[in-house]
Amino acid sequence: MISDPISDRVPSVCGRFAPSPTGPLHFGSLVAALGSLVSARRHGGRWLVRIEDLDTPRNVAGAVDSILRDLERCAMHWDGEIMYQSRRTDAYAEALERLADRGWTFDCGCSRRDLAGGVYPGTCRDGLPRGRSARSVRMRVRTANIGFRDAIQGSTAQCLQTEVGDFVVLRADGVVAYHLATVVDDAEQRISEVVRGCDLLESTPRQILIQRALGLPRPEYAHLPVAVDAQERKLGKQNLARPIAFHSPGAVLVDALEFLGQHPPLELVRASPAEIISWAIGSWDTRRVPRRRRAPAPGYVDDPWPRSCLQ
Ligand code: GLU
Repeated sequence: MISDPISDRVPSVCGRFAPSPTGPLHFGSLVAALGSLVSARRHGGRWLVRIEDLDTPRNVAGAVDSILRDLERCAMHWDGEIMYQSRRTDAYAEALERLADRGWTFDCGCSRRDLAGGVYPGTCRDGLPRGRSARSVRMRVRTANIGFRDAIQGSTAQCLQTEVGDFVVLRADGVVAYHLATVVDDAEQRISEVVRGCDLLESTPRQILIQRALGLPRPEYAHLPVAVDAQERKLGKQNLARPIAFHSPGAVLVDALEFLGQHPPLELVRASPAEIISWAIGSWDTRRVPRRRRAPAPGYVDDPWPRSCLQ
C-alpha cells in the first residue's frame, strides 16, 4: 500500500495548479487541476493558480481566459491573486545571481547543434572554450543521487550526473528555464504540496537540486497518472488533445475522478459541479490514485481508446 504523507499532514497546506497557456484545458490538465485542488482542500488548505507563460513563442492568445473560465465552470475556485510568471523576471534574475554567487552555475557556449542530445558532456564547465561566447547558463550538477518519496509513485531516485547532467537554467533565448522558475515560484507562493502529472516526475530531482542550492523548502510531491492516447502519448496540447466538452462539466469531473481511482457514485453525474467537487473533497484518498499512465475514461471522447489501463 502506498503511504499517504500528504493526508497525514495538517499544517498550513497550500497546493497549486500551474498551467502553461498553450491551449485550452484538456482532460490531462483537468486531472492535474482537480487532483491538486481536492488534495489541498481536503486539509482545509489553499489552492493557487499560477500561469506559466514564460515560453512566449508557445503561448496561445486567449488560452489563459479559456483555462480560467473552464476552471470556474467546473467549480474549481482558486484563492488569492493569480501569479503570472511573465511578471516575475526580477525574482528569477535574483535567483540566477544567487546561484552564480554560490558557484552553482556556469556560462555555456554550446548550441543545440554542438550537443547531440543526451547528457551534457561538460564542454564549458571549467570555462568557455576559446572563441565561444556565453549563450545559456547551466546548473553544475555535483550530486549523484537525488531521492524523494512521492505520495503516489512511492520512492523515486535519479542519478542527476549520469541521467541528466548539467542542465540549463537560463536558455539561449534569454528565457528562464521551467525548473528554475517553478522552484522560485513554489517557494514564493509557499506551496506545501505539488500535485501534478507524472510526466513531471523526472523533473523533480532537478527541482530539488535547485531548492537545495537556493536554500528553499521542499514541498511534498504527488505525481498523478497521466492520460495517454491510443499511441500511448501523453494527452497534451502538443498532440492536440481535444478541449473538454464543457457543456456538461459534471460528466467530465466524474470521469476525471474515476480516472483518479476515487470511484464516484454513478448518480453524481447528475449533480452540479460544486456538489461534485464537494463530494471529491470529502472522499479523496491519495492511496486510491493509480500509478503511472492510464487511458482516459472511455466515453469522454469520440475516438476509440485502449480499454486496458496502461499502468
Ligand atoms: N506548466 C506545466 C504544464 O503546464 C506544469 C508545471 C508544474 O506543475 O510544475 O505542464
